[in-house]
Amino acid sequence: MKILVINCGSSSLKYQLFNMDDHSVMAKGLCERIGIEGSLLKHTKTGMDTVEMEKPMENHKDAVALVLDMLVDDKYGVITDVSEITAVGHRVVHAGQKYSDSVIVDEDVKKVVKECFDFAPLHNPANLIGIEACEHAMPGTPNVAVFDTAFHQTMPEKAYMYAVPYEYYEKYGVRRYGFHGTSHAFVSSKAIELGELDKDNSKIIVCHIGNGGSVSAVQNGKCIDTSMGLTPLEGLIMGTRSGDIDPAVVQFIAHKEDKTLDDVLNILNKKSGVLGISGVSSDFRDLTKAAEDGNHRAEIAIEAYAYRIAKYIGAYTTAMNGVDAIVFTAGVGENNGAIRKNICEYLGYLGVELDDGENAKRGEDLVISTAASKVKIMVIPTNEELKIAQETLALVK
Ligand code: AMP
Repeated sequence: MKILVINCGSSSLKYQLFNMDDHSVMAKGLCERIGIEGSLLKHTKTGMDTVEMEKPMENHKDAVALVLDMLVDDKYGVITDVSEITAVGHRVVHAGQKYSDSVIVDEDVKKVVKECFDFAPLHNPANLIGIEACEHAMPGTPNVAVFDTAFHQTMPEKAYMYAVPYEYYEKYGVRRYGFHGTSHAFVSSKAIELGELDKDNSKIIVCHIGNGGSVSAVQNGKCIDTSMGLTPLEGLIMGTRSGDIDPAVVQFIAHKEDKTLDDVLNILNKKSGVLGISGVSSDFRDLTKAAEDGNHRAEIAIEAYAYRIAKYIGAYTTAMNGVDAIVFTAGVGENNGAIRKNICEYLGYLGVELDDGENAKRGEDLVISTAASKVKIMVIPTNEELKIAQETLALVK
């Protein structure tokens, strides 16, 4: 069976076509600058070089039509007819409190996605447009919504409530939701296999650290806490996001710099994090180089980044009264052994012992702690697209 996975941004559309018999990617690509002059389609048929072509795309409907044309193209295509696509899985960012699992899209689901526009104003509208574009292009083919927030819906009230007047929760749903749920679900379940843990008696901390970053505590296969909140701004220091700060900083900067609330929030989202501290870059490759060249602010940025993650690991170990495995994933987590080592140096009190040889390796699903370590430390590459395809298949089978 073939499953198409779609991830729509406000002016972009990423896609992958999976053959679910062996989980292989048959083709993948990206539409950029949708609705803007110079729209571009980048398409890769597995085993062939990427082709890039400028194609007019006024909206996401045009983009979906082009993607389907490419998938059946004589030269770059991988199927003969779009009817070979069993279903389409869509990444949808926010489902509020409504869905704790993936769902087949119907009118009610679309209503919920719409109701959550306020929570994810950049993502949910684009996600809905992507769904409607597929309904238009492939009538009768089921669409499945896989939500970033769903995995975190098992958090107990004590973990998701903000200590603000309760009426804001009741009236507007102001609470912690969490994001990157598809990745936390995929990686934590792989950790159970890799560590040969008993799912019903397991305590796992997943550190999804890329340009965005979040940590989750997964007990007995269910999320009980996560570091992102109402929006992805809370929690860890990220590439350009501040993570946790005293909320009074917002008012303070607004007054001092004569800025609006929106201006300051934009700064906290786009100009803060390791970029803000270092003034160098949000990318860890640049930061590492700058720190090696003696740039003190780049050094502090890296130190603060690792320290915040270590503090969350401490908090979540307390939340679960122990931890069996700590897993690193996403761009930094999968590729940056120095950061992993930096974080693990705080965890000696848990009996964590890193195996430097294993930590220097790159590749699939590694245990990087020694045999004597009391907690297993792992690196597991995330694969949100495959997880979306698996969830989609499970619902339409
Ligand atoms: P992501 O958002 O998951 O794509 O992660 C982006 C972050 O991962 C950036 O800070 C990159 O510097 C980092 N990253 C990605 N690939 C590598 C690599 N090969 N070596 C070191 N850092 C990397």
